[in-house]
Amino acid sequence: MILSLAPNNHYKTYDMKKILCGVDIGGTKLSTALVKYDGELIDKCIDCDHVDKPEHELVEQITANIKRLIRNNGLTETDVLGIGIGCAGHIRFRDGVIITTSNLKGYKDYPLRDTVQQNFSIPVILDNDANAQAFGEFRFGAGKGYDSMVFLTISTGIGAGIIIDNKLYRGLTGTAGEFGHMIVEPNSELICTCGNRGCLMACACGMALPHLFRKKIGEGKISKLNLPPGFDYEKVDGKLLKQGLDMDDPVSKEIIIDSAYYVGIGIYNIFQALNPPLVVLGGGLLSWGEFYLSRIRETFNDLARDMIYDPFGIEVSKIGPDVGVIGAASLALELC
Ligand SMILES: [Zn+2]
Repeated sequence: MILSLAPNNHYKTYDMKKILCGVDIGGTKLSTALVKYDGELIDKCIDCDHVDKPEHELVEQITANIKRLIRNNGLTETDVLGIGIGCAGHIRFRDGVIITTSNLKGYKDYPLRDTVQQNFSIPVILDNDANAQAFGEFRFGAGKGYDSMVFLTISTGIGAGIIIDNKLYRGLTGTAGEFGHMIVEPNSELICTCGNRGCLMACACGMALPHLFRKKIGEGKISKLNLPPGFDYEKVDGKLLKQGLDMDDPVSKEIIIDSAYYVGIGIYNIFQALNPPLVVLGGGLLSWGEFYLSRIRETFNDLARDMIYDPFGIEVSKIGPDVGVIGAASLALELC
């Protein structure tokens, strides 16, 4: 056992050899953290200057962050079980390669895992951020006690991860569980980033909100949100609709109900494909709260009816805002 200064400035003890390290490469933040074996955060650092850096500089930044955190907490590399890196985009898991990512410039077929690995003697694992969050939620959050679950994160886009028999299911390339591209409305006027019509992501998440809001206003609906003249509807996001929901704005509520409907259909399709005992929902749009969640459950139950033979849970993520980096750290548990 060793003593460390935890983020809340209270001294805590934890088992050596059981520390996990996580790195979450996001579009605005690069988060690095040390996490206890049970998911509790020990220490973290956040950078916001990583996005425009060429590949080798990002690797240097990640390496320096990890080494500094280890040193500052009185640890050595051998106290850490492994380093998990979560990155948005398509990741060829088997090879540890970023196939493509929209968050960073470059990084086409970039072997991030092995390049970081050259700087460490402990194992490095790379996966996409949704899989990392899913596994974190499975090990430390709402999925604790289950052996299988599906995680959906609903924010600007929709990401997902599948856990079957205590392991992430990744498919052949590593892109299994791209439920955001599951088609829920083939005749929709909403076209997804993938080019298809009516993907769940196109209909239900943050990227759909400006269009949906503009459309309702175009239909003559009146919003109670006091938007200034010439308001740019591209700025409509989950936060604005939360304000609308709180002030009983009919336009905001209609859009939230529509989103819940499509997410409910999506969960129904997941239920039929995988029959998991639990679907965990995370991401920014869950700030819409019970109003949103109850309608998601309602749509699911209307569709699944008496085809539910055993308890099926639709629950909200429990880890909170650090789920990205804690999830990334949890990937190290896959190594043992
Ligand atoms: Zn799509």
